[in-house]
Amino acid sequence: MRYKLVKGTKDIFLNDINKWQYIESTSKKILEDFGYSEIRTPIFESTDLFSRSIGVSTDIVEKEMYSFKDKKGRDLTLRPEGTASIVRAYVEHSLVPPVKFYHIGTMYRYEKPQSGRYREFYQIGIEAIGSISPFIDCEVIDLALFLLSKLGLTNLKIRLNSIGCRKCREVYKKILLEYLKKKELCKDCIRRMNLNPFRVLDCKNEQCIRVTSTPPSILNSLCEDCKKHFAEVKEILAEYKISYFEDPRLFRGLDYYTKTTFEIVTDELGAKNSVLGGGRYDYLVEELGGDSTPAIGWAFGVDRLVLALESAKFRFPDESKKLIFIAWTTETAKKQAFKIARRLRTEEFRCEMNYEKSLKAQLKLADRLEAKLTVIVGTHELKEGKVILRNMEDGSQRKIDIEKIELELKQIMC
Ligand code: ATP
Ligand code: MG
Repeated sequence: MRYKLVKGTKDIFLNDINKWQYIESTSKKILEDFGYSEIRTPIFESTDLFSRSIGVSTDIVEKEMYSFKDKKGRDLTLRPEGTASIVRAYVEHSLVPPVKFYHIGTMYRYEKPQSGRYREFYQIGIEAIGSISPFIDCEVIDLALFLLSKLGLTNLKIRLNSIGCRKCREVYKKILLEYLKKKELCKDCIRRMNLNPFRVLDCKNEQCIRVTSTPPSILNSLCEDCKKHFAEVKEILAEYKISYFEDPRLFRGLDYYTKTTFEIVTDELGAKNSVLGGGRYDYLVEELGGDSTPAIGWAFGVDRLVLALESAKFRFPDESKKLIFIAWTTETAKKQAFKIARRLRTEEFRCEMNYEKSLKAQLKLADRLEAKLTVIVGTHELKEGKVILRNMEDGSQRKIDIEKIELELKQIMC
């Protein structure tokens, strides 16, 4: 019996794994420089946590969650995003604001698999909890841009909107409903219209996108406080020459957002062009049982970023050390070779050897593994206390003293 990957999932290995590793390690460094520390939360949580925070009438909660009962009948869900879990942890551990966390890990959504859209995918995200200052809005947007461009993505654009607070949304809801009533929408949107008309603006159906392309702007319905906040955010962005375009259709697919919302898009991804999405969520901490605390965050899809970088012909750096292969000629030499490999590994050289093959086959394997050097341990040379050092690029060979292997390798490898 042979098994296949479950639909919408993938294996990442060999020539691809360095792409994920590069994005993860570069992101970690930069996020830590910006004051964020890592948080790891469980891959599954109570279903309630997600339906409550993301919103029962959103696509994620209505259609996309991997929910199941455990053996005790508890309702659990594989996390579809990171914010809800991080806010749950923040409240549960009674953390004191300001708190800045980043997370790296897999998310699960039952979506129709296609390029850049999977059922298991990787996200890197940040959450800055505790500040209402428009400066933090700009800091997180600036960080998103800085990080994505450091990672090699060019031609980035910021879509920006403010979706106000509860008060503004009540006002806007009526205006939007008036506008939507006259439109021909998909079944989902018709059903959800009265419950949550904002969802219509985030619908992926082409007909819905077309007929709602110029909705009344929520900016005209913002209360004084939200208006001022948004104006200040834009002022700071302008002052630091961070360009953006305002998009009144940007409502995002989760209910917890308030005030500033944004996405970063790139032409490299065609129609599904959003790499990163985020916004404020000033009510969520309170919703989940904490004190009223403002917060803002974003997340980007690592798999989608890889696609964008590949499409831009970006050369992913390979950060792994060069390989040294240890080959042998006879069974006696094999034991010595094993000893040398152990010794070199403890000295932090990257070494590989093989226990089955002929010398010819071992050298072939060293080639396939792209070893830079091969140490050949032969019985004759061993008698003289020496081994052969073979340069795999030009095939040249020379004898060196066993004791001096590390010294020689250090000189060649650096
Ligand atoms: P989209 O509009 O493309 O469905 P989204 O609004 O659902 O995205 P968010 O929930 O904001 O996305 O997640 C942030 C990022 O995570 C997205 O910009 C995207 O890069 C990535 N992402 C979201 N869903 C998927 C998926 N199913 N497969 C791969 N990456 C995804
Ligand atoms: Mg989505």
